[in-house]
Amino acid sequence: MTLDHLSAWENCLQTIRKSINAQSFKTWFEPIKPIKLEDSSLTIQVPNNFFYEWLEENYVGLLKKTIRQELGPTGQLEYQIFVENHTRTGHNGGPTERRFYSPEHIANPFVIPGIKKIKVDPQLNAKYRFENFIEGDCNKLARSAGKAIAKNPGGTAFNPLVIYGDVGLGKTHLAHAIGNEVVEKFKQKNTIYVSTERFTNQIIESIKKNSVSDLVNFYQSIDVLIVDDIQFLSGKTKTQEIFFNIFNQLHQLGKQIILTSDRPPKSLEGIQDRLISRFKWGLSADLQTPDLETRMAIVGSKLDDEKVTLPQHIIEFISYNVKDNVRELEGVLVSLIAQSSLNNKTIDINLVKSVVENFVTGISKEITIENIKQLVSDHLKVSVEKIQGKTRKREVVMARQLSMYLAKHHTNSSLKAIGDNFGGRDHSTVIYSCKTVEDLIDTDPLVKDALHELEKKVKMSLSGMKS
Ligand code: ADP
Ligand code: MG
Repeated sequence: MTLDHLSAWENCLQTIRKSINAQSFKTWFEPIKPIKLEDSSLTIQVPNNFFYEWLEENYVGLLKKTIRQELGPTGQLEYQIFVENHTRTGHNGGPTERRFYSPEHIANPFVIPGIKKIKVDPQLNAKYRFENFIEGDCNKLARSAGKAIAKNPGGTAFNPLVIYGDVGLGKTHLAHAIGNEVVEKFKQKNTIYVSTERFTNQIIESIKKNSVSDLVNFYQSIDVLIVDDIQFLSGKTKTQEIFFNIFNQLHQLGKQIILTSDRPPKSLEGIQDRLISRFKWGLSADLQTPDLETRMAIVGSKLDDEKVTLPQHIIEFISYNVKDNVRELEGVLVSLIAQSSLNNKTIDINLVKSVVENFVTGISKEITIENIKQLVSDHLKVSVEKIQGKTRKREVVMARQLSMYLAKHHTNSSLKAIGDNFGGRDHSTVIYSCKTVEDLIDTDPLVKDALHELEKKVKMSLSGMKS
């Protein structure tokens, strides 16, 4: 029995579906069309170049494995990239469906001739740029999609792009960054940034002045429309209705729409279903809280902007402790810089602690010996009882010695107090343990790594202790 391209790809999809989450599957695999299967080489069509790059970067291993499993060891995958009206490598007939609309082909009865030429002020904030939007796993998809759109507004599958995430994670920054790049690259295109609040007020005004259709015409002549915080459309029926008309027209003309929201489209409340379903047409990409490395990079970048240098351990302290929200992270830095210049204080760890405390609750409690034992126990999988007990087994002794070392370096406890906390050992045992760990750091890379990890956790747990 020979396999055709449709069933071969369907089989692949079944495997892939099991290996990744539903959202990724929907975003990256559902839009793919199988085209042909020849000599165990399967050709698939992807909507654009960005798609291809994303698949290659993120799913190459999975695809390879799946294709081999389905088509045997010589199995290969080839891509066709979809472009309007024809495919770049395709000879197999063009795609049946036109996904992208080009404005030249559609007469626009609403737009007054010439109005498109009038340049409007995009209302963009020039300081929000891609260059200062630090990339991390937390924002990779949204950032890449934004970049792709900035290169080719209206010409990607990401229309609309919905950037969603909690407050202070960079939605507004990213939306402006896309707008700024479009304005630079495409001088003739009209780009507009508007907050939902402002948009709503414009509508209220236009209703009063009986000029709603002017407003609609204006927005329908825009090439790249950015609307920030669409969750605020909630409950505003008239605004939603008007936005619906604008959205439809722009989308049909192949104009780019970029929206931000504090939650994914499906969770929006008080918004008409027909709008929500349109929000889901393109790509919804979330911003998550940045991980430690990304936070450190953000702090570094903001300090560069301010031309301030801080010692590494202070940067680490701030990044460890302010973790929920980038805006807060910036707040700490601004306040720190202000305090140090106003009061002429040097930025030392005490000043930093007091500033951070104003932003984050439950910070900078001293870590206790008990906390340390628990951390070591979790990390090395040795029970706390054993750590403070009498066992001389190698791994237990190691855990005990590391705990004592950490207690000496990260608490204010005396050697005697530390000894007491480890089953009543005396202070010379503590000194000996610390010395042993110091020797092992130089000679045993495993110990060195374990200690490094543990010290990270100790520092991080400082901010986790809410009491
Ligand atoms: P949101 O709109 O999601 O509430 P903002 O875009 O206003 O968040 O971001 C809050 C602050 O954090 C801004 O000053 C922004 O520049 C900064 N910020 C957020 N994410 C990043 C990032 N990845 N790199 C640099 N700065 C960031
Ligand atoms: Mg915002």
